[in-house]
Amino acid sequence: MTKDGAFEIRVRGRVQGVGFRPAVWRHAQALALDGDVLNDSDGVLVRVAGAADRAAALVDALRRDLPPLAEIQSIETRDCTAILPSGFRIVESQGGAANTQVSPDARLCAACETEIADPANRRFGYAFTNCTHCGPRLSIVASIPYDRATTTMAAFPMCADCRTEYGDPANRRFHAEPIACPACGPRLVLHTADGAAMDGDPIMGAARLLTDGAILAVKGLGGYQLACDAANPDAVTRLRQAKKREGKPFALMLRDLDAVRHICELGDDEARLLNSAAAPIVLLRARAGAKLAPQVAPGLDNLGVMLPTTPLHALLLAELDTPLVMTSGNLTGEPQITQDTEAMEKLPAVASHILSHDRAIANRVDDSVVRVMAGVPRVIRRARGYAPAPIRLPAGFEVAPEILALGGELKSTFCLVKDGQATLSQHQGDLEQAAAFDEFRRNIDLYRILFDSAPSLVAVDVHPDYLSSKHGRAMALPLLEIQHHHAHIASCLAENGWPLDGAEVLGIALDGLGLGADGTIWGGEFLLADYRGFMRLAHFKPVAMPGGAAAIREPWRNLHAHLAAAKVPMDGFSALRGKPLETIAAMMERGINAPLASSCGRLFDAVAAALELCVDAQAYEGDAAARLETLAGAAEGGDGYDFAVSNRLIDPAPMWTQLRADRDAGMDYAVIATRFHTGLARALTDMTRKLSGFDTVALSGGCFQNRLLFEQTLRRLEGAGFTVLTHARVPANDGGLALGQAAIAAARTIKGDRTCV
Ligand SMILES: [Zn+2]
Ligand SMILES: [Zn+2]
Repeated sequence: MTKDGAFEIRVRGRVQGVGFRPAVWRHAQALALDGDVLNDSDGVLVRVAGAADRAAALVDALRRDLPPLAEIQSIETRDCTAILPSGFRIVESQGGAANTQVSPDARLCAACETEIADPANRRFGYAFTNCTHCGPRLSIVASIPYDRATTTMAAFPMCADCRTEYGDPANRRFHAEPIACPACGPRLVLHTADGAAMDGDPIMGAARLLTDGAILAVKGLGGYQLACDAANPDAVTRLRQAKKREGKPFALMLRDLDAVRHICELGDDEARLLNSAAAPIVLLRARAGAKLAPQVAPGLDNLGVMLPTTPLHALLLAELDTPLVMTSGNLTGEPQITQDTEAMEKLPAVASHILSHDRAIANRVDDSVVRVMAGVPRVIRRARGYAPAPIRLPAGFEVAPEILALGGELKSTFCLVKDGQATLSQHQGDLEQAAAFDEFRRNIDLYRILFDSAPSLVAVDVHPDYLSSKHGRAMALPLLEIQHHHAHIASCLAENGWPLDGAEVLGIALDGLGLGADGTIWGGEFLLADYRGFMRLAHFKPVAMPGGAAAIREPWRNLHAHLAAAKVPMDGFSALRGKPLETIAAMMERGINAPLASSCGRLFDAVAAALELCVDAQAYEGDAAARLETLAGAAEGGDGYDFAVSNRLIDPAPMWTQLRADRDAGMDYAVIATRFHTGLARALTDMTRKLSGFDTVALSGGCFQNRLLFEQTLRRLEGAGFTVLTHARVPANDGGLALGQAAIAAARTIKGDRTCV
């Protein structure tokens, strides 16, 4: 015992399973401190003997030199009365109390990358190398507490060498639960399509096959993938045909940043993102003349690019001179495959060979997608590397009950709230797919175990037909129904730390469709909103969606409806040639299967159809809008087209007249596309200036993933003196809905309901 007493340091945040205790131990050794460190249900607790400056020195050292995957939320130091023996110890967790958090999967770290490339290292060429700074987490965990026994590494008893590393606080692999080496860990195997294992080195064999133009299935971190040589038009075309995937761009994997620079323009922010522990797919502008098959991303100038995420991928890419297409391993309309038996059964329809291994995937975790817009990385699909990292809710939310929010229908996620913290699930996919919906339900159960959650309230979208809403209603819990666009805005508020009692903001929510508070379809909304409620101040002029759901798929229908609404002649628009226009006109006239929608997404579809970019069918949600953005590119468009902004309505009619005139005059379509984007951003700003009751604007909804629209709107609104809140960590699209629903449900429980109009 020392005569100076002792101090207790409480650390909260992402501090378990990320090498935090050994970091404390190392710093304590260096500072010659006596004391101990342990994990408990609140995070990490450190006890240090001596005067206050001893504890302060340790806190300083920790803040300066944090393990790469750790994130400190708070550190509190206070006196304690403990009597501490000399030396510094890592104390084992007290039974069941620890490890309340599961971390996201993390990309191969630099130290491990060096080891697998070093012939003298015992992990040379080993595809499952990892340490506390990197490797699988969410993708292998089946229960809590997070230790080897609850992961799919339980099947691999550690060898003596690994056990020594695992037990040594000075080692980078101290308590690295998935620790493995060639002697004890998982093994790669290269199969032919009929399941026979091939002789020779699996990586070399796989690389040879890819070079020869084969399509290869690869068992990746969170699911099977399909790979082929991205410079080989024949291979990429076969992959497209086999996956029945017509237009949606394929993601690429490249060996390093230099390889990325050869095919894309790469900013510093983007390079950092590619290299980060999350290592998402980053959307980059393709360089002209890049050596790639044109079938990789037809009609788009954006490429989705990632670096090798696991040692397996790094080893494979090291043997290849070419970028790989790396897309999810599934058949059309199904989620990415994770199970070996299913892979062996289905993937031979696409791939000639399968590079697999014997570590099971416990949870499907898709690749995340991020785009840098207005200088900030913005997550478009939040999965590998980001989920399930918690999102701290703003001050005031700590007293909320435990809540489960179920999100939307497409790009689905769900969200758990507990102790003022929101845990947003990884991307679950489109629930209309039966397999995705099954997994969605399974994952809710899993997250409830992982995060020790017992919700007393469930929040769903007001849309009665969303499968997530039906699922929520079937649960034996009190239910809150949340309007779609209000949830979008609340999601933006929550991720920006907007206070529970914060003033109302103007939420501009632009997307495809969501059910409105008045029972009609919304999608271009100006809501005066806080967490508890909203008032619909203005919106886009409702226009018919002839054919209902068909109008979501077929852009020409929206062109017809918009031209009709704007009273602009339809002759000469080739997109409408040969279409059953009279039937459509009759449907709209009589209001049969032609619901009105104030949707900004459908407006994008209509303009894309007018410019013949995407006429008969969208290959995927947002296809038409993405092509329109690409076409606009860097063309000059002046002030853009005029929209009528009055009476709390944005009416695109003048835009259609001008667009038609430009078109008739033979104007370059790129200029027309630019004028549309610019005019729309101007209209949003003009409407915002006409409205009152706020000085902060929140932008949300999938349309704001369009860089041109987003950056122009942001610049104009800020230029007009507004503070603008935007999405970054949480998708602006429906992938962020669950967070907003959760925040609204929490706020209403804490502060009481407020009427929504
Ligand atoms: Zn590592
Ligand atoms: Zn080993």
